[in-house]
Amino acid sequence: HAKLEGRNTYRFFTPQMHAKSVRALQLENAMRRALERNEFTLHYQPQICLHTGEIRSVEALLRWNQPELGSVSPGEFIPVAEDSGQILQIGEWVLRKAVAQLQTWHQAGFGQLKVAVNLSAIQFHQPQLPELISRILLESDIPPTALELELTEGVAVHDPKAATLTMDALRKSGVWLSIDDFGTGYSSLSQLKRFQIYKLKIDQSFVHDLDHDSNDRAIVSAIIRMAQALGIQTTAEGVETQEQLDFLREQGCDEAQGYLFSRPVPAEQISELLCAYQPWSPPPSPAFS
Ligand code: C2E
Ligand code: MG
Ligand code: MG
Ligand code: MG
Repeated sequence: HAKLEGRNTYRFFTPQMHAKSVRALQLENAMRRALERNEFTLHYQPQICLHTGEIRSVEALLRWNQPELGSVSPGEFIPVAEDSGQILQIGEWVLRKAVAQLQTWHQAGFGQLKVAVNLSAIQFHQPQLPELISRILLESDIPPTALELELTEGVAVHDPKAATLTMDALRKSGVWLSIDDFGTGYSSLSQLKRFQIYKLKIDQSFVHDLDHDSNDRAIVSAIIRMAQALGIQTTAEGVETQEQLDFLREQGCDEAQGYLFSRPVPAEQISELLCAYQPWSPPPSPAFS
């Protein structure tokens, strides 16, 4: 192979790197046709209020059913979409789809339900983003307060000034801002306050070992207390056991999301859950999902 490249060619790639880039290229190419071929779908995962037991909102999670490459996880294809710039188009599709689906749920009588959409940093840094979101909401019948946008801690690192402008514009439009995977990245407390963050989503890596790791318990309880002092909501991600749930409720965490309640499921199953769910009956077993 090196021979083909000629003798003056440097070999930049190790075999592993090469294999990886071929896969990334395959994904990137397949992705170009994915939207028009309707290969993307959204699954939704409930976020349960720990004070009342209600499903307050659902997080939209992108799924890609690619016939040739098999099922590809967002953890694999989102970075590829970000590298190739395709995340902008895909992200706009996600926003429109999630808002349209929420409108259907509102019309079905679940008018208090909200939807949370994950935003890539690339989307966040588009100056037109606040306008795009306002337009999508205007074209729908749902109020801006029914939309939560999940950002990661990194978005404000490189250009805090620009980030502040975008956050302010988004907040002015009426949508809510959440910080996803909180605790894994870089945030300053003063920024949380200044950006008018509505919700911190405590990363699932802290929730996973709550039962046996006293450091994780200390971190989670400190995050909850700090958020409470700042007037910010907390949501624990990746809640899988009753013991984790009991600890989180005891600490005053506001919401939980995880397999204990439901896996991410297609919209129709959320409709069934909304109809069937009894606040604070014992949490449904994982068989519920
Ligand atoms: P995230 O936003 O932090 O989403 C939560 C992830 O945790 C989801 O993985 C979800 O399926 C998983 N999860 C939920 N409950 C549990 C649990 O109890 N246990 C365990 N082990 N996992 C749980 P998923 O769907 O594979 O998505 C991974 C990441 O991909 C998301 O993390 C988000 O960062 C990104 N992503 C997904 N959809 C989109 C999208 O539409 N746009 C963008 N930009 N990113 C997305
Ligand atoms: Mg998220
Ligand atoms: Mg997360
Ligand atoms: Mg994540």
